[in-house]
Amino acid sequence: MTARPRHASVAIPIPVRRQFTYLVPEPIAARLSVGARVRVPFGARRVEGTVIEWPAAVPAEEIELKSIHALVDELPPLQPAVLELTRFVADYYLCSWGEALEAATPGFAGKDPLVRRIHLLPGGTTAKVSQRAAAQRELLQALSDAGEPLPLARLTPRERRAAVVLVERGLAAIEETREAPQPPQSRNVAQAERPLDPMPEQAAALERILPAIESGEYAPMVLHGVTGSGKTEVYLRAARHALDRGRSVLYLVPEIGLTPLLLSRVSRRFPGQVAVLHSALPRARRWREWQSVHEGRCRLVIGTRSAVFAPLSDIGLIVVDEEHDGSYKQDETPRYNGRDVAIVRARAEKSVVLLGSATPSMESFHNAQSGRFALLQLGSRVEDRPLARVGLVDMRQEYGELQQASALSRVLLEELEDCLERKEQALILRNRRGWAAALLCPRCGNRVNCTSCSIALTWHLAERRLRCHTCDAEHPYPECCPTCANEELKPVGEGTEKIEDLIRDAIPGARVERMDRDTIRRRGAHEKLLGRFGRGEIDVLVGTQMIAKGHDFPRVTLVGVVSADQSLGLPDFRAGERTFQLLTQVAGRAGRGERPGRVVVQAFDVDHPILRLAAVQDYEAFFQRELDYRRALRYPPLAALVQLRISDPDELQSRAWAGLVADAVRDAGDGKLLISGPGPAPVERMRGRYRQQILVRSDGRRRVVDAVDRALNAIGNKVPSRALQVDVDPLSLL
Ligand code: ADP
Ligand code: ZN
Repeated sequence: MTARPRHASVAIPIPVRRQFTYLVPEPIAARLSVGARVRVPFGARRVEGTVIEWPAAVPAEEIELKSIHALVDELPPLQPAVLELTRFVADYYLCSWGEALEAATPGFAGKDPLVRRIHLLPGGTTAKVSQRAAAQRELLQALSDAGEPLPLARLTPRERRAAVVLVERGLAAIEETREAPQPPQSRNVAQAERPLDPMPEQAAALERILPAIESGEYAPMVLHGVTGSGKTEVYLRAARHALDRGRSVLYLVPEIGLTPLLLSRVSRRFPGQVAVLHSALPRARRWREWQSVHEGRCRLVIGTRSAVFAPLSDIGLIVVDEEHDGSYKQDETPRYNGRDVAIVRARAEKSVVLLGSATPSMESFHNAQSGRFALLQLGSRVEDRPLARVGLVDMRQEYGELQQASALSRVLLEELEDCLERKEQALILRNRRGWAAALLCPRCGNRVNCTSCSIALTWHLAERRLRCHTCDAEHPYPECCPTCANEELKPVGEGTEKIEDLIRDAIPGARVERMDRDTIRRRGAHEKLLGRFGRGEIDVLVGTQMIAKGHDFPRVTLVGVVSADQSLGLPDFRAGERTFQLLTQVAGRAGRGERPGRVVVQAFDVDHPILRLAAVQDYEAFFQRELDYRRALRYPPLAALVQLRISDPDELQSRAWAGLVADAVRDAGDGKLLISGPGPAPVERMRGRYRQQILVRSDGRRRVVDAVDRALNAIGNKVPSRALQVDVDPLSLL
């Protein structure tokens, strides 16, 4: 840029898909660049935005343009590559560029306290003020000595009055900045970890990965390795290779808190080189980590979804660990999938992207099968340890023989006792927290529902509260059925809280603990629980799906699953895939050490093909079967899918708007799209809003996204943005 810009296009984090032009005030023109964060007037508010370009043509109504208020922080501007990635997110996920940019700098925008600082302007020398203005002269001198802006808060009242005069006279200016970034923490260099000698299959995978890193070309690869096959060691060796060649590494994981051991392992393998980017870190720490990446001090970033926007340069390898995991998808705007954005980034950076899982997503494995991605397989566990044996228990038969319902089968209890006698450990999965999934009225057959959602309330015994798992509303135990006033209500569907209790009763003396969202509310609580389990201070850990995540506890030899088939009944085309993944993953926690593992899966519908395939842990058979089903019903990965959801507190209004949206999509689609709906969403009411849903499908991703894009433009503000939600490649249709 030679001439100083007079105008800037700014992206603002609001759900309006356009950019805004502002005048650039002279004092900041020299320091402004594309990617910089600025504070701008917007309506009656001041908001933070990002400069995205210098407009070629300035709108005719220039007279009405407002000026940028301030350059807000001292962070160097966002890198062009990251800026470009956010533009992709905005285009593809149909949100505003400003919203996409918010996702790229999580937790900083508009939240850190602002500090006002004063700095010298060109010409701000003592020569310009009279001898008698001592305070002004002293301040000018102080500023020139400091060589950097000084926070107003650190000035004396006398200096502050002088500052006002200097600003008025154009010798100094005040800028708003973020709190001064602290120097990086000295990084804990713990005992360095040595690499393991690769097993033959690991070596074979590396023989394909390392040359690909070397080639400097985009290379997407699926690493399909059964549970316990040693995928982590492959990632770490590949990372070493990229770092040795001077390139940086991005290592994405679904949820850091759930795999604390992995984090310490990576830090030990690459002491001093690892930065962690994760939204649950305290803000000051997050800020430091981000800076250490931006300044190039840390060349390996490990982090969750939003770390895909990490300010790394020259990435040689992107690892997406447990790439099938639903936490890669953000469930609020922008609704991006971190795995898919990682693939886009890898293409731009010409790097290897390694999508690892024991149960790859249908999308990734389909890409591998069709040859778009390379397929690397680890078919056996390290040291040829066997996968755990899985037994299905038919709970109908159990009831028939016992003549009473029980949540835990005799087989499972016997296995548990044996396991504890051998001084080994067990994990029990029940993917539902609370004591009872619902309260049922035996007289009218209704369940006690949330007052703002069409969802049954869950009974939490310890808190003595009914809780809505959708909106988190709490209610006391009702005196009677809200529908028919019957006084007797029956708790149905045992949750983790009850299962924990049942095991304590059945096996006195067993050390039983529970891990679910209720027991890990406090920061660090899950690390603590997992730490205690790892040290053998807990015998049985009962929990929701979070106990199934990549944990590696060698003393776990028994895994039990309660109500394994429940999730199969959900009205969502991914219900089968999700159930298969969960069962395979949790089964994979058993028998990872020297002793073989055993898995007991309780279900009513034990003949369900998904359960059968999960029991034999046959991923490829599952994939083929599932693909046929997706083909027949035209669902991803064999079709592209966009979900539109229209909601309003008023049911008729939601339907009227849904009709309008559907018409716009139909017009934009030229008859080339498959449009289902509008109709009520599976959960018809949520947080007091009635929900309508439209599914738009087509063969090509670009076609469906472009059509919806045109439809949204045509709709304009006829439907308020808060009433319309767009989800490209949705993971859940509920
Ligand atoms: P996965 O992620 O594929 O389920 P992990 O990466 O957790 O498997 O590895 C399973 C276990 O095998 C870990 O305890 C790991 O330390 C061990 N392991 C991995 N590779 C090797 C190797 N080459 N030699 C010895 N042990 C290994
Ligand atoms: Zn609710």
